[in-house]
Amino acid sequence: MLIKEFISETNKNQMISILLKHYKVGSVKVKQKSMKDHAHYNVDTGTLELSTRYKTIKNRQIKEFLITIIHEIRHAMDAKKYGWKKFKDMYEMEMNLLIQKGKHQYKDNQYEIEAEEFGQKNWKKWYGKFKRENLI
Ligand SMILES: [Zn+2]
Repeated sequence: MLIKEFISETNKNQMISILLKHYKVGSVKVKQKSMKDHAHYNVDTGTLELSTRYKTIKNRQIKEFLITIIHEIRHAMDAKKYGWKKFKDMYEMEMNLLIQKGKHQYKDNQYEIEAEEFGQKNWKKWYGKFKRENLI
């Protein structure tokens, strides 16, 4: 049995590309960036920014990696659904409302909650699929 400790960059990029196409946000660009968070969907530029920490993914990071990518894809799907400018406004309105209510601008944010649930709900089936396709 072949144990892969690291996922190659080619396989990682292929997984991202498969996911983007499946969720019909294939026009999203992907960029490596040195950043605090693991990933960020930049709604202004339509770019999925991925931390340079994810340049190579270790086996034990796959679950977290898939949840993160699918989470960010959900934001891209919302941006496509509403139009990115409108979605940006909606998102900012939600943040402002939460701040006014003394709640947390991300943890209590409905778009963040939905995106995280979307990632948690869907990562397993992709894990199985990518495993079968020998990408992980
Ligand atoms: Zn998010």
